[in-house]
Amino acid sequence: MRAEVGDVEYRTWLQQIVLGPVDGDEVTLMLPTRFLRDWVRSQYGDRLSALWNQEIPAIRRVELQVMRPGDVVAAPPAADGEGGASAAPAEVTPAPAARAASAPSDRVSDTRSDLVAPLDQRFTFDTFVVGKPNEFAYACARRVAEKPSSVGFNPLFLYGGVGLGKTHLMHSIGAELIRRGGISVAYMSAEKFMYRFIAAIRSQSTVEFKDHLRSVDVLMIDDLQFLIGKDNTQEEFFHTFNALVDAGRQIVVSADKSPSDLSGLEDRLRTRLGCGMVADIHATTFELRISILEAKATASGVVVPGKVLEFLAHKITTNVRELEGALNRLIAHANLFGRPITLESTQDVLHDILKAHDRRVTIEEIQRKVSEHWNIRLTDMSSARRARAVARPRQVAMYLAKQLTSRSLPEIGRKFGNRDHTTVMHAVSRVQELMERDTAFAEDVELLRRMLES
Ligand code: ADP
Ligand code: MG
Repeated sequence: MRAEVGDVEYRTWLQQIVLGPVDGDEVTLMLPTRFLRDWVRSQYGDRLSALWNQEIPAIRRVELQVMRPGDVVAAPPAADGEGGASAAPAEVTPAPAARAASAPSDRVSDTRSDLVAPLDQRFTFDTFVVGKPNEFAYACARRVAEKPSSVGFNPLFLYGGVGLGKTHLMHSIGAELIRRGGISVAYMSAEKFMYRFIAAIRSQSTVEFKDHLRSVDVLMIDDLQFLIGKDNTQEEFFHTFNALVDAGRQIVVSADKSPSDLSGLEDRLRTRLGCGMVADIHATTFELRISILEAKATASGVVVPGKVLEFLAHKITTNVRELEGALNRLIAHANLFGRPITLESTQDVLHDILKAHDRRVTIEEIQRKVSEHWNIRLTDMSSARRARAVARPRQVAMYLAKQLTSRSLPEIGRKFGNRDHTTVMHAVSRVQELMERDTAFAEDVELLRRMLES
């Protein structure tokens, strides 16, 4: 890669890559931050896969991951960027003391105390708004809370995207079980599970840790995807899991993907996770978002006009947590200033949030859509071909990239086969000119813009 991209680019983006586990036809490369991971994936992902495959034909996939404590790595990143990749993969988890020592102190608390993480009082079945996307998961959660360890519902595996209510449902189960009484419940995130486990190893109290976990009636572990790559902790979880299920106790687990899609979890664990009830929470619909907003507005006692709720439900579509955050800010403002909430005040008060939710279009998406629209090859977006049939769409794509993304002219140029920024500038003004003269062309471009923005 260094030979291809040059020293500067290599040092900036690629040097920090660390070799992770190699498993069958897949190799995992790790990067220290999510940003770097995303960048390397988008800019170099395909090329890295191709090079790996060229060197080792058995490798078909390169997976890029953010490094986390306890990850399996081949070697620490060498200062000069050399040597890391040639070492054989080794497990670094057996250094728990060092890991635990560097972890925030609240995480390495005594394993015997607070086994039951405090449940959030706001997260109950009563405050969970049910709609099409979550009704199945909700029904399963209710069922488990009413009759833990029923055949077919153990384990209960809840999965779905960020902010769609997995944690809310798990806390609801806990709250309901506690309300009914006579049952011991342990809830913790997979991350906490790992830190507890590591702390127990360090203080030589793993036996107590295991005994305590295995004594609960209902064990709930949130965000299980955290255990990917943490083989020792996975192993421990697997044994705890088996011991509990064999003893007729209920397990509830959440993750961001279905068991079969959680690649990186051991097969036998995935198999067991999937053999009870698997319920997914789908992305919210507009109707559900409105219902959630209505419920929260009503609970707050502040009047929020329907138009404002609709506006929010249209704008913030991915994550209920953010939707809620926006509404809370509006309500706080209204209370503070004693002014009614209007559409104008909403746009004003939520200016920053709304801006962040303007759909971000990538140049790749623009190139794809434009090539499809004019039926040219995607590669011609960066090729040197100058034929009008190719050059015109390419100019439109540059124009849209300028309009719809925050990339600079040189950045845009680079994405179009390393063209100069003046070429991009020329394309932008050329397309503007044409749009003024040719209404059919202008309509085409507008249509593309709308498709990309929706
Ligand atoms: P996840 O664990 O899936 O990332 P959470 O359970 O933390 O998501 O939910 C994020 C926020 O959105 C919480 O404040 C939760 O109360 C709220 N929320 C999510 N779904 C619903 C729903 N269906 N009804 C009411 N509140 C919801
Ligand atoms: Mg959660």
